Amino acid sequence: MIHAMKSEDIKNLNIAIIGAGYGGAAAAKALSLLGANVNVYEQASQMREVGAGIGLRPATMDRFSTWGIFDAIAKVSSPSDYFEILTATGEPIMKDTWPEFGGQAHTYLIHRGDFIEALLGVLPEGMVHLGHKLESIEERDGRSVLSFTNGNIAEADLVVGADGIKSVVREQLFSDKGPCSPESTPTVWSFPPTTPTDWWSTTTCGCTSARAPRSICCRFATGTRCPSTSLP
Ligand SMILES: Cc1cc2nc3c(=O)[nH]c(=O)nc-3n(C[C@H](O)[C@H](O)[C@H](O)COP(=O)(O)OP(=O)(O)OC[C@H]3O[C@@H](n4cnc5c(N)ncnc54)[C@H](O)[C@@H]3O)c2cc1C
Repeated sequence: MIHAMKSEDIKNLNIAIIGAGYGGAAAAKALSLLGANVNVYEQASQMREVGAGIGLRPATMDRFSTWGIFDAIAKVSSPSDYFEILTATGEPIMKDTWPEFGGQAHTYLIHRGDFIEALLGVLPEGMVHLGHKLESIEERDGRSVLSFTNGNIAEADLVVGADGIKSVVREQLFSDKGPCSPESTPTVWSFPPTTPTDWWSTTTCGCTSARAPRSICCRFATGTRCPSTSLP
């Protein structure tokens, strides 16, 4: 039976989150603010993000403000006033401001490595257990028993699967079918610093899904400063 949980049901629950990516780290912050006892289990022995930039929309920044972590994120990101979509040869298709949410009107552009570092940095010491690759989940006496490939076992009242596109949690509890539609392939983004003080510009915003076969480029205006990490 599906039972909708209220925030007071979360208080004092022992929650295991599998995966310390953006999803897992954000869930850990939100659930611990509700009073849960949270442990995050991450397979990697060290957190490192590959890739380029990510845009944190006004609604996301508003939520970070509610959680009291706005400054930690804003310190390593760059506010953008508006966005433009251009054709592959540079002709403008559209230009618009970011949709406002709460008190926020900017999207913050952040390097993926800075984002995960900042998110994990606001979690209490000892909450994230690195080197824990989930192998299986079993239910015993109404609790979940998690077994990791390093031989460790953990118990939890509630398990959150934040272990990415090849989720073991999803495979074990729901289905071994992947989440992707067969008609689409991954979108590849790159953010080379063409004029680093003012712009992050995508030159290859190649979307190969059946719905959008044409290449487009996106350009984001960013005020005057770049994130602390140099762009790839
Ligand atoms: C180059 C690039 C640019 C992007 N730009 C944007 C953007 O601008 N805006 C946007 O919204 N999205 C963007 N995305 C997509 C976004 O990065 C993903 O949606 C996001 O990373 C998903 O976060 P997640 O925490 O769910 O999963 P992941 O980031 O995949 O994290 C999953 C974590 O779980 C761990 N894990 C996996 N299996 C196990 C296991 N068995 N046991 C324990 N731990 C495990 C992994 O090691 C990993 O740390 C971009 C993606 C890429 C590649």
